[in-house]
Amino acid sequence: MTTTRRRLAAAAAAVLGGLVLVLAGSWFVVERGVQRVLEREAVHLAENWAGTLGSELPRVERLIDGYPASREQIRFIRQMSALADVFRWRLFDETGTLTFDTRYFDELAAGWKMPAEAALGERASWPGAGDAWPRAYVEDGDGERTPRYYAVAFDRLVADGSEIGTLEVFIDQTEHRADLLETLLASGIVLTLLVVLAFLVPVAGLLWQIRVRAAADAAREHAATHDGLTGLLNRHAFGAVIDGKIAREPGVPFHLHAFNIRRFRQVNEALGYAAGDEVIRGVARRLGEQAGARCAVCRLGSDEFALVDATRPGLHEARALAEACLHEVSQPLPVGEGAHSPLIDCGIAQYPGDGTDAATLLTNASLALKTAAAEEGASIRVFHPSMERERARLLEVERRLRRAIEEGDFRLVFQPFFRPDGTLVGCEALLRLDCPEGRSMSPGEFIPIAERTRLIIPLGAQVLRRACTIAARWPDDLILAVNFSPVEFEADGPVKAVRRALATSGLPAHRLEIEVTESTLITNPDLVALQLDEIKEMGVRLALDDFGTGYSNLGQVSKYPFDRLKIDRSFVTALTEGDPQSGHMLHIIVAIGELLGLDITAEGVETAEQARQVARIGVDCVQGFRYSMPLDVEELERLLRQSASAAAAPSLGGVAAGRGS
Ligand code: C2E
Ligand code: CA
Ligand code: CA
Repeated sequence: MTTTRRRLAAAAAAVLGGLVLVLAGSWFVVERGVQRVLEREAVHLAENWAGTLGSELPRVERLIDGYPASREQIRFIRQMSALADVFRWRLFDETGTLTFDTRYFDELAAGWKMPAEAALGERASWPGAGDAWPRAYVEDGDGERTPRYYAVAFDRLVADGSEIGTLEVFIDQTEHRADLLETLLASGIVLTLLVVLAFLVPVAGLLWQIRVRAAADAAREHAATHDGLTGLLNRHAFGAVIDGKIAREPGVPFHLHAFNIRRFRQVNEALGYAAGDEVIRGVARRLGEQAGARCAVCRLGSDEFALVDATRPGLHEARALAEACLHEVSQPLPVGEGAHSPLIDCGIAQYPGDGTDAATLLTNASLALKTAAAEEGASIRVFHPSMERERARLLEVERRLRRAIEEGDFRLVFQPFFRPDGTLVGCEALLRLDCPEGRSMSPGEFIPIAERTRLIIPLGAQVLRRACTIAARWPDDLILAVNFSPVEFEADGPVKAVRRALATSGLPAHRLEIEVTESTLITNPDLVALQLDEIKEMGVRLALDDFGTGYSNLGQVSKYPFDRLKIDRSFVTALTEGDPQSGHMLHIIVAIGELLGLDITAEGVETAEQARQVARIGVDCVQGFRYSMPLDVEELERLLRQSASAAAAPSLGGVAAGRGS
């Protein structure tokens, strides 16, 4: 029974008890009241009778003295008896001896004396000398010899100014009492009802208040421990559940699963916050269904969830649960008017091995989750202490990235690309971050972190601006190629960044080439197509980088306004590793590229043999260590000056010694 119910039952019992008490009390008061009224009336009647008998009954003192009634007296007494409800009266002399009783009227009228035993037998009703006059009492009768209810009243009989005896009158009050009771009870009941009502209204108000307060308390408690959007436990309550479980069953193993939704921010931005909420609710519901009633599920933060599974102690089972969650959550979810398939990652921490309290377990499950999230495609990772080191490394790289953005502390190198005849066509800007220990961090190390933290957006914009400023000093037929990450297309777009960089640097738009990878096209094809069209309209060139590593085919590529296709290094490497398949592929790509009017660049050409083969296939441009390493700004400018003074295209051999990378 809940506290509220107990309170309600107690209140109802109190009201009922109160009602019974009020009714019993009213009855008592009414009864006593009626009795008092009847007694007072009886007293009045006795006074009247005593007055009438004393003044009107001829020679009443003789009747008291025990003389037989005269004819005159008999007539008078008969007249009196027909009056009112007095059904009997008696006379006593000064000593209290009964001398006349209407019950024996016929006998007395016939000349009898009052039988002594009658006087003795009835003596009990004599009030006694010391009592106050007049006085009365009421009595229940048997309904045969006496009425059901009657009053007995006494008064002193006075004749010619002196007391001559006592009169006792018996008054039938059965009907009168019933009338009085009826009237009084009716008003009593009305009064009682009014009182009860007056009592009930505040009590009902109080009960209502208790109910409302109890509901508010329950709502407040729920809100303090649950997430408003999903109804799941919140982080705080979830921690308490875990710590409670550990305290109850120390050492009994269990697993903590942490989940987050992949690219949730993009869902919010692309579909709107209402759709984002629907996705969160959908994921929460599905996780809850997978977890079952015996697991606690919580929403840790915006797109993060966790569940603790006490029913499956083995790691194998914990993984199976995680897999079921990943699978179930990824089913198409109705969102707005369409559908969305949310992808989630999972990190698992084990009690007691990975922590002996909720906070540590949650931290470690989150670490495992971050590792899982960094991988391609939805994945599951179990916590390992090395993840702590990995986390420290990630934090270090993130700090370095922020410094690059805030202080402009980054370096650009430029890798030239040529026509197969050795003519310099342009240079690709490549980002370098130098570390204090003299090492240069490779983009492969920091670009994924910059993408995950979205720091690539401000960083990419700065890279673009600086690269454009540098390229504006180059001969005006040289192209500047700049890499764009898929993440940069998720923000309000690279369009603004390109427009601003061109405006501040003064670089003509046709000399800038933006390189994007196939993954950019896959993420959000419609939005990216719009942005690419806009960039293209400015007169900027577009290149599809690392072609062949993703899933796009040439048919899809033709839908975008590309100017160049850069064939990935892996194809070029395969050429000289005896893979005839890649040779055929290259032939086909070049042929279709020509058809679509695309320039084809072969990337990562390292050897003379590779150079010979790609030239034979007929690519338009070549790029790779064979021709030039990426060069520092100064190195590149020195080279450009040399080639200008030689009034010839730079010699391929001359730049191959670059050390910018
Ligand atoms: P990418 O766009 O494919 O750039 C070419 C990468 O291949 C460069 O690596 C370059 O140094 C390397 N490379 C060039 N020729 C050869 C060769 O003959 N053999 C071999 N083995 N490698 C060669 P880097 O500079 O380490 O850049 C790696 C990737 O990082 C780039 O691949 C690009 O995707 C990304 N990246 C670099 N700078 C930026 C940037 O400013 N913004 C963005 N979004 N991504 C960048
Ligand atoms: Ca590139
Ligand atoms: Ca490339």
